[in-house]
Amino acid sequence: MLCGLDLDGVLCDLGPSVAARIADRFGVASHPSTWRSYDLRLLRLGVPEDKFSEFLDETFADPDLYGTAPVCDGVVGALHQLRRAGWRLVGITARPAHLAPATRAWMARHGLPIEEIHHTAVGTKSAVARQLGTHATIEDNPTEAELLADVGDSWLLDRPYNRASPVVRARRLSSWDDAVGRLCQLRLFA
Ligand SMILES: [Mg+2]
Repeated sequence: MLCGLDLDGVLCDLGPSVAARIADRFGVASHPSTWRSYDLRLLRLGVPEDKFSEFLDETFADPDLYGTAPVCDGVVGALHQLRRAGWRLVGITARPAHLAPATRAWMARHGLPIEEIHHTAVGTKSAVARQLGTHATIEDNPTEAELLADVGDSWLLDRPYNRASPVVRARRLSSWDDAVGRLCQLRLFA
């Protein structure tokens, strides 16, 4: 059984670093737990829209952002439990290809038991998942999670910024503990 995992917002917590950069550049304090939109361009922080958009493009293209980001709460233990239950784990990310070396180094540094990482454009993860033959996927992007429901069990990890988005075909996970509980059960009855 193969499980496809999104990286940002699922394994890797970019929130604190992005918030620190917003504070540095615009002098605006904003805590990630108050972000209510998956698309950060839609955050209303009172900074000029074009400058903010440019800043976000620059920020998310910078390998250093990813290298220094912490692992999301509960990930390390959960991934090892999934492996012990027999799941094989692969990463499916919309990070651009130039971030592949920083991404691999980050995975290795944190000892995450992920076999391989696939980089693909936003909105195309389901094609990659189908090709790989994933049985389950975990995402934090509600749009992508709905598309991934075409391929297998699609789980949306609950985050403050995706809570307001309705999902119809994907199912929500409250936490990584919840993920382990559900996926291990799935495996048991497969
Ligand atoms: Mg994500």
